[in-house]
Amino acid sequence: WLAVADRPRSVLLAAPRSFCAGVDRAIEVVEQALAQRGSPVYVRKQIVHNTHVVNDLRARGAVFVEELAEVPDGACVVFSAHGVSPAVRADAARRGLAVIDATCPLVTKVHVEARRYAARGDTVVLIGHAGHEEVDGTLGEAPEHTVLVQSAAEVADLRVDDPARVSYLTQTTLAVDETAEVVAALRARFPKLRGPASEDICYATTNRQDALDAIAAESDLVLVVGSTNSSNSRRLVELAHRRDTSAYLIDDVADIRPEWLAGVSVVGLTAGASAPPGLVDEVVAALGGLGSVTVTERETTRETIRFSLPSAVRPPGARTP
Ligand code: SF4
Repeated sequence: WLAVADRPRSVLLAAPRSFCAGVDRAIEVVEQALAQRGSPVYVRKQIVHNTHVVNDLRARGAVFVEELAEVPDGACVVFSAHGVSPAVRADAARRGLAVIDATCPLVTKVHVEARRYAARGDTVVLIGHAGHEEVDGTLGEAPEHTVLVQSAAEVADLRVDDPARVSYLTQTTLAVDETAEVVAALRARFPKLRGPASEDICYATTNRQDALDAIAAESDLVLVVGSTNSSNSRRLVELAHRRDTSAYLIDDVADIRPEWLAGVSVVGLTAGASAPPGLVDEVVAALGGLGSVTVTERETTRETIRFSLPSAVRPPGARTP
């Protein structure tokens, strides 16, 4: 580290960054469940894709499981922010589990669209990443009528029943520009393509990409705080790369390699929607420890969205936003 304490640096902080309303809500759901019911509270999958959040809640009594089969009969289970398929809900009901649903309302919106499009007889094209929990959940709404597309190149090979009856949906955490290319390819192949009235890529994903885009080109290095399984965080790293700026995904300050900073005067810093804000502060402090640092925040928009808690854990008298 001494070798990189060689120059004054500036840090450009992208804003908005870090927690979104859906992540805030999901974490609070688990906290309230623990406070109201005591430990253990089971959580199916990571509540949000961040190792720090998961480790913190685990230390406070949450038990993270991969599948419902690991939850004892009659116990309380929280569904993660990424949502679940109807088959998982049915399984929980059959097992008599007490379900608290922390699915982000903006993911639920996509599920509702999937059901509506399939019910009107359309082939539903879901744009997203195979294997992501959110995608598994959305696919499960109408598995017979939904096909997954991961890139514009895959559109040519799509098979649909009726080219005049095709709708699309997207994962909430995709790259805005890349997704527009996939939609354009779909529209070129299926001119009658229909889509959601408002974008499925959520406000938080869009805002974090716009905020990073405002600083990426003038940064020598971009650091994105987030875990490797966080889709929206990975899209931020890729966005910086598309602006020809070196960029790395870091879970926390310990992941920073000194050689990344060699010759770097301007560090762009942001965090994915599931990464706690305190981790960003720690990165700024570590950079400050290397020498003089000027920190400038560039705010492209201000977020005011809040989601109310599910009724199962809403404290009595709590105000809904
Ligand atoms: Fe909801 Fe978007 Fe946050 Fe995902 S990133 S939890 S969809 S607000």
